Amino acid sequence: MYRGPACGRGVSDDALVWRCACGSHLNYEGARPLRRAEIVSDERSLWRYEAGLPLGRSDAVAYFGEGLTPLLPGLREAEPFLFKLESVLPSGSFKDRGSAVLVNALVRLGVQEVVEDSSGNAGASLACYAARAGIDCEVYTPESTSPSKLAQIVAHGARLVRIPGPRDETARAVQEAATRRFYASHNWQPLFVEGVKTLGFELWEQLGLRAPEGIVLPVGLPVRGSGGRLRPDPRGFPGRRR
Ligand SMILES: [Zn+2]
Repeated sequence: MYRGPACGRGVSDDALVWRCACGSHLNYEGARPLRRAEIVSDERSLWRYEAGLPLGRSDAVAYFGEGLTPLLPGLREAEPFLFKLESVLPSGSFKDRGSAVLVNALVRLGVQEVVEDSSGNAGASLACYAARAGIDCEVYTPESTSPSKLAQIVAHGARLVRIPGPRDETARAVQEAATRRFYASHNWQPLFVEGVKTLGFELWEQLGLRAPEGIVLPVGLPVRGSGGRLRPDPRGFPGRRR
């Protein structure tokens, strides 16, 4: 079951929806807590946590053995620090966790055509999983998207639609396209988040069934007037050593 947090409306998770009728996002309510004894220890992928996911390994048509990425100690810093190497996932980013769960759920629902908007990684990831699942994929990207990401999307056989202007213009254009094919949005579709949460399960398991004290995540924010391009902050990363 999905539920709209703004209006409380419930929607079956067999329905092909990506947002609530009132315009809000939807939350997935079907997930249950994962118990330690339920981890499938001989499955070397994120599907070892299938008991806490909306679908299991046997449902995964598009499967690359994704997940269970290495957690390695930092080599240069004096403080204890661990790096979670999400770049070794099949398309090169953590987005594969969400794509693995979402695309395989869409296969079960009979979806044959999807559309997505992305400034790079999410589009490449969806294109990769859609290709494996035999789903036709269209990706809308802002013109500022890095050429290597565009090449990756096209290499997976997805159709590319480049939209001039800032990122918001791409989001507007894809919602029009979403009237024709299913909008497999990494920002909107709640099953994508279900896949991403396996990163938390992995950290917990790899740290000896403990939560980490803290997590540092690199992020990028578009600068106003940059046309959606990222510009480095000349002051550098806060807290960085000089
Ligand atoms: Zn609603």
